[in-house]
Amino acid sequence: MSRIQLKDGDLLRQQALFGGRWQDAHQGETLPVIDPATGETIATIPALGREETEQAIAHADAVRISWGKTPNAARAALLEKWHQLIIDNADDLAIIMTAEQGKPLAEAKGEVLYGASFVKWFAEEARRIYGDTIPSPSDDRRILVLKQPVGVAAAITPWNFPIAMITRKVAPALAAGCPIIVKPSELTPLSALALAVLAERAGFPSGVLQVVTGLPTEIGAALTESRTVRKISFTGSTRVGQLLMQQSADSIKRLSLELGGNAPLIVFDDADIDIAVAGVMVSKFRNAGQTCVCANRILVQRGIYERFSARLLEAVATLKVGDGFTPGSTIGPLINERAVEKVNSHIDDALSQGATLLTGGISQGNGTYVQPTVLGDVTNKMRIAHEETFGPVAPLFIFDDEEQAIAMANDTPYGLGAYFFTENIRRAWRVAESLEFGMVGFNTGAISLEVAPFGGVKLSGIGREGSRYGIDEYLEQKTFHIGSL
Ligand code: NAD
Repeated sequence: MSRIQLKDGDLLRQQALFGGRWQDAHQGETLPVIDPATGETIATIPALGREETEQAIAHADAVRISWGKTPNAARAALLEKWHQLIIDNADDLAIIMTAEQGKPLAEAKGEVLYGASFVKWFAEEARRIYGDTIPSPSDDRRILVLKQPVGVAAAITPWNFPIAMITRKVAPALAAGCPIIVKPSELTPLSALALAVLAERAGFPSGVLQVVTGLPTEIGAALTESRTVRKISFTGSTRVGQLLMQQSADSIKRLSLELGGNAPLIVFDDADIDIAVAGVMVSKFRNAGQTCVCANRILVQRGIYERFSARLLEAVATLKVGDGFTPGSTIGPLINERAVEKVNSHIDDALSQGATLLTGGISQGNGTYVQPTVLGDVTNKMRIAHEETFGPVAPLFIFDDEEQAIAMANDTPYGLGAYFFTENIRRAWRVAESLEFGMVGFNTGAISLEVAPFGGVKLSGIGREGSRYGIDEYLEQKTFHIGSL
């Protein structure tokens, strides 16, 4: 615990919040939370299962009607308060996040502020849940569309953004009037529990936000099978997203799925090299390459390839691998050994099939630290072309013309983020319209903002988070016919 030095020690919780109070698992089982930088256990959390999840669902259901009827302005005011508390406690939240997730403290602080931005945004959107009036085909009738909360919602979230992936779901749910149960990743539950402490302090009624930590399979089964839970919002791997969709079939649940990606980043001959390199650095190496919108395939046009790769190597040389708590570290440890093995296997496979090692390489026995790596001459037959690497490895592919670049970029079952760099505006429109992805960045490697819709197509999922559309995921439309006027 010594690495977690907080101004407010009360934010570090080792119990879960459900059924109206902070509790242990009914049988007392726990799971360890490991600091990826040291491999040490920093806390334990309750290993909750089906029984406790059912208790949480029942409690959420008990407050469903009253929360749904709470005036929008009152819900907005509570969200505003929660937002302010997150900002006021940003330093402590960042420390908790770095300790359990590994990312550099400055990045963790950035995520806290980014996560808070969703709370602020949806506090504002809560006031703008408008319905429709529909012109009636006859004079004796009026037709309205009312927007109402879907009911009890659940969020299942990953470890790579332990706060932002939660607020992106919880804030619109609460704004819409839905109680929500959060099941955070068992690898990063402490950030979620700290958020729940602050939500309690903000004054949300009991049961409106609950956090269940523990056994994913059991909790997931209880949430998906329940007919009371009307909506699940999941962020994580495509494999688990598919499983949750199958399990939700019997209860016909609404689902938002933010799944894996295999983002292409295209650098055309006419790109501004400085802008393109900056785009790769932010998109590829943020969070040690552990983001769903990370550039996974860097497609470079032949004429600029040598100049671009030389400049990219200069930029990569400035990265500093180290403990997230050490000032100046820009690449923290990966989340666990399994992640390192996957990264190593991608590098190994690429090198064995003819890729060139430009910098970095397979890491050997340095905990879960991985050197930033750039591979040249990568081709489509290598695993790295088809699978998410989730690590700081930039594979460079060569293409000859625009048509080939678009075909290569779209040659994936995923469709989350894509990026391209060019100074030609006519090309920009053509390429943006041809890329089969939910989000496209033109001359930028950063595409995640609370004001803009975030989400994917194909195996990257369904639904959108953030923006004015994000709240629709938690609202039902009720058509209201008024007759005999
Ligand atoms: P994961 O799918 O292993 O886990 C995600 C969550 O699902 C965790 O809370 C986990 O405990 C839970 N889970 C696992 N098995 C479950 C089951 N059987 N039933 C219910 N819940 C279960 O993913 P991860 O390793 O935590 O995160 C990495 C993945 O998430 C990557 O593929 C990444 O691309 C994706 N991701 C996507 C987005 C996006 O917005 N599209 C954002 C971040 C991460």
